[in-house]
Amino acid sequence: MNIALIAHDKKKESIIEFAMSYKHILDKHQLFATGTTGEKISDATGLDIFRFQSGPLGGDQQIGARIAENKMDLVIFFRDPLTAQPHEPDISALMRLCDVYKIPLVTNLAGAEIVIRGLEAGFFEWRTLINRDNNEK
Ligand code: PGA
Repeated sequence: MNIALIAHDKKKESIIEFAMSYKHILDKHQLFATGTTGEKISDATGLDIFRFQSGPLGGDQQIGARIAENKMDLVIFFRDPLTAQPHEPDISALMRLCDVYKIPLVTNLAGAEIVIRGLEAGFFEWRTLINRDNNEK
């Protein structure tokens, strides 16, 4: 599974703790992130993460493009609901594309805990099957 990790600045500590706690699960997947989030998680955990641009410089849009190409299976986005973001239109566009393409999206720690345990339990195998069917066409 291709998993995107994104965290706004005030949520970066939280996503690092999350990644440390679930490193054993995340490690089995292909990980992607916006620039700073990816750098911090990678430094703290040693996880191998492909980094897009920083969010305000287009990273959210790059992840959105992967979704439109059916190359992203899950988005874990630790949003800060209490701080205005200069790239709010990009964030809205990313979340909209998740809805358009029915890509699982969680926007806080509680949701992330559920999806990561669901991932471990095999709840997302339907995504793998869809991708295999698409690749066979
Ligand atoms: P960053 O971007 O990981 O580069 O900080 C996240 C965001 O604000 O969208």
